[in-house]
Amino acid sequence: MTKPLKSWARYPDHPQAGHAVQWRDRLQPVLAQVAGANGTTLAYGNGRSYGDSCLAASDQVVHTRPLDRFIAADWQTGVLRAEAGATLDDILQIAVPRGWMLPVTPGTKYATLGGAVANDVHGKNHHVRGTFGRHVRRFALLRSDGGAFECSPDENAEFFAATIGGLGLTGVIAWVEIQLMPIRSSRVSVTSIRFGNLNEFFALSEELDSKHEYSVAWIDCLSRGSSLGRGIFMVGDHAERGGLQLPVKKKRAVPITPPISLINPLTLRAFNALYYNRQQQKTVQSEVDYDSYFYPLDSLLEWHRIYGKRGFQQYQCVLPQVNSRDAMHAILEAIGQSGTGSFLAVLKRCGDAVSPGLLSFPMEGASLALDFPQHDESNRRLFERLDAIVREAGGRLYPAKDAHMSASDFQLAYPAWHQLEALRDPALMSRFWQRTTQT
Ligand SMILES: Cc1cc2nc3c(=O)[nH]c(=O)nc-3n(C[C@H](O)[C@H](O)[C@H](O)COP(=O)(O)OP(=O)(O)OC[C@H]3O[C@@H](n4cnc5c(N)ncnc54)[C@H](O)[C@@H]3O)c2cc1C
Repeated sequence: MTKPLKSWARYPDHPQAGHAVQWRDRLQPVLAQVAGANGTTLAYGNGRSYGDSCLAASDQVVHTRPLDRFIAADWQTGVLRAEAGATLDDILQIAVPRGWMLPVTPGTKYATLGGAVANDVHGKNHHVRGTFGRHVRRFALLRSDGGAFECSPDENAEFFAATIGGLGLTGVIAWVEIQLMPIRSSRVSVTSIRFGNLNEFFALSEELDSKHEYSVAWIDCLSRGSSLGRGIFMVGDHAERGGLQLPVKKKRAVPITPPISLINPLTLRAFNALYYNRQQQKTVQSEVDYDSYFYPLDSLLEWHRIYGKRGFQQYQCVLPQVNSRDAMHAILEAIGQSGTGSFLAVLKRCGDAVSPGLLSFPMEGASLALDFPQHDESNRRLFERLDAIVREAGGRLYPAKDAHMSASDFQLAYPAWHQLEALRDPALMSRFWQRTTQT
């Protein structure tokens, strides 16, 4: 048994007892044993999901992180097969020096392969390559009834689609085979452009997204009036030269969890203004190592502690293309009026690549993600307003980040949930799934 496990945002507070699995042939016995003793369980990768989708309803999880071995790699074709507990960082460590990169990566390299599949994660190149699941060739799925089978787009295709973005509910993934992406250099050429408001963001995105592999913007979520949605737009591409080195970095960590959040309206306003004004010129060109570009937050270990013992909630929504401008304005106005929000609000356009998962989150349009310190009443009031805007616009929230979505909103936004429920392994149940479908 490991120490109690939590989700990344530490809210809701349901510490999980972790039943660690060291060997693949122990996965099914442990799954059967934990579910048998507690009714249900859930696979837990590395707890980088923010809310309650990685928390078992029984608070007893099968901890797959120790399963981190590489099974096969073909460095001519970039096809890699690894156990589901291997992190994206484990993969980068062996792939980058050989000229291969993850085709899609979220903003943390500490997610596991199993977690990346179960949430069908997306990254800064969604407009070019879609979600992670599009690059998954096959995986092995283990069920609590003893069933064990491989899934690919052509083999057990129904389980393939249900497991990608399937929130860990169709079975436990033992290993995953992915197609990596070739790179010439481990460095990324970046162009950062300061923009004055949301309309400028959409204009930049329209002009530049199709010309670059990566595109994302940071916005000052507290700016109001004519500056609503001001921020820094960043496009990037893998450099042609510069070698294939792994970045050498000193890790820093937030040493303790303060009793109250260090993020409050004062610190937030100061940080946002500082960050925005840090870039004096309209456009800045730079070249950085991949670690600084993709994973700036990972360099400060345990950064979630700054939100104090009560934790925080992330709000991430995606809005369909046709309504994204108006709805995004309305969302930012509501957040600006509330005076709360995060020092890292991330805005990005999602492309039209079809996700392979039944319940994948992205859709063509715009996605916004930001963190809120946990204050029960004010968060509830604000989220109610934001949820109404998202609902009206035909958008949806990201289960990987969620701790508050209502059952009706979830079922409206993810109508295929019935199909997933029909394929769910009865031994698997998360707090998220219980909250949004079992009421
Ligand atoms: C700083 C930061 C930045 C992030 N940026 C992004 C981003 O840009 N884009 C994005 O999409 N996400 C992002 N995320 C979210 C994160 O990528 C996902 O939540 C990811 O799924 C976490 O992986 P994990 O291994 O920690 O899984 P966990 O959080 O432990 O679990 C997530 C889900 O995977 C299931 N699961 C885990 N292992 C298995 C397995 N072996 N078999 C079956 N199911 C399994 C669990 O049951 C659960 O449903 C970010 C998170 C952080 C902390």
